Amino acid sequence: HGSPLPELPEPDPQTGAAVKAADRAHVFHSWSAQDLIDPLAVAGAQGSYFWDYEGNRFLDFSSGLVFTNIGYQHPKVVAAIQEQAGRLATFAPAFAVEARSEAARLIAERTPGDLDKIFFTNGGAEAVENAVRMARVHTGRTKVLSAYRSYHGSTAAAINLTGDPRRWASDSGSAGVVHFWAPFLYRSPFYAENEAQECERALAHLESTLAYEGPQTIAAIILETIPGTAGIMTPPPGYLQGVRELCDRYGIVFILDEVMAGFGRAGTWFAADHYDVVPDLMTFAKGVNSGYVPLGGVAISGKIAETFAKRPYPGGLTYSGHPLACAAAVATLKVMDEEGVVENAARLGTEVVEPELRRLAERHPSVGEVRGVGMFWALELVKDRETREPLVPYNATGEANAPMAAFGAAAKKRGLWPFINMNRTHVVPPCTVTEEELKEGFVALDEALSVADEHT
Ligand code: PMP
Repeated sequence: HGSPLPELPEPDPQTGAAVKAADRAHVFHSWSAQDLIDPLAVAGAQGSYFWDYEGNRFLDFSSGLVFTNIGYQHPKVVAAIQEQAGRLATFAPAFAVEARSEAARLIAERTPGDLDKIFFTNGGAEAVENAVRMARVHTGRTKVLSAYRSYHGSTAAAINLTGDPRRWASDSGSAGVVHFWAPFLYRSPFYAENEAQECERALAHLESTLAYEGPQTIAAIILETIPGTAGIMTPPPGYLQGVRELCDRYGIVFILDEVMAGFGRAGTWFAADHYDVVPDLMTFAKGVNSGYVPLGGVAISGKIAETFAKRPYPGGLTYSGHPLACAAAVATLKVMDEEGVVENAARLGTEVVEPELRRLAERHPSVGEVRGVGMFWALELVKDRETREPLVPYNATGEANAPMAAFGAAAKKRGLWPFINMNRTHVVPPCTVTEEELKEGFVALDEALSVADEHT
């Protein structure tokens, strides 16, 4: 599909300037101080690359917001959307529609265990909102526990569940949410020295949190299988099984959030496949159709589905299972099978990304830790490897964030578009990326890390 180096169209700076001017006048951007941003005007994209109106091309090591798992403009998915638009562009949710039922069937086939019914949403946050609602109605309890180092979305309940500082400005207080510490050995909340210790102490901490909150008041525990934007912390072996056991012991619904980690990102269909764990509810979005049309959902186990077999589920969305989004999902999942996309992410993750990142870590004092799996990797940048002091302070903005800003600018100048959050750069290219593209990206990353090194 596509060529690794797409032909760039003629530069058209005039159109670019007009696009930018209208954007600056009228588009209100997410997570931004509106007057302090300077968004790139994008002219087009293909495969692992996108380009601007000035004739600059970027290798996308961010997959947008970690969602273009099959890359940009896959011709088969574009054609499927066009075909569906011509046939039946939209239809209300309370009907059986071919694209919708086929998407649900293909998703249910891939999810672990008995997660066989699919509730469709328009994205990840709505999936989290509905998973929590299902858990509350199913258990008749209200409290939900989530991890501090987490992100679950930017709607009312999802932002409260989110554990990282993106929650602060709009946190509505408790809203039935309690946070706890999940394992993260590099910055262990439990002063653990190895993974086995981290796992054991994290489970003991969770168990005592449950005891003091009152397990009979807790509807659900929600965890990202592998926390994504909070730093790609692969959990130690045994941790998720331990959480599963605690949930079973106390009748608590176990929700795994696979919005970012799912659909090939971790080199498996779902990150949960690495840990041999089956949640009661699993949220997904992003990679399900590579974000070509907004789509998310909740995969529901037999146990929870049973609750709503004879009484209504008290929730719904006008665009639940939108035909265009579902047609894009059907085409995406077929492309992933035909092109071995999951296998590609697994193989290149192990054979190329991990060894290259470990080589970079040896050469660059700013790299404190390399972690990840599949096409889902993070470099934790530090001022000092011994103390592990982050390269920029937690949640830094403005001047305080200058070292990360300089690193990002250096990468972009070399044609690499990185994914940066706090003191980390994540290496999350499309799961269809080629070895040549990865090698090209690592040359640019190497040079950009030299800029980060100046701040150690
Ligand atoms: N959960 C996780 C794990 C996510 O990474 C995200 C988005 N980054 C969300 C939920 C929210 O998804 P959306 O932005 O589609 O609402």
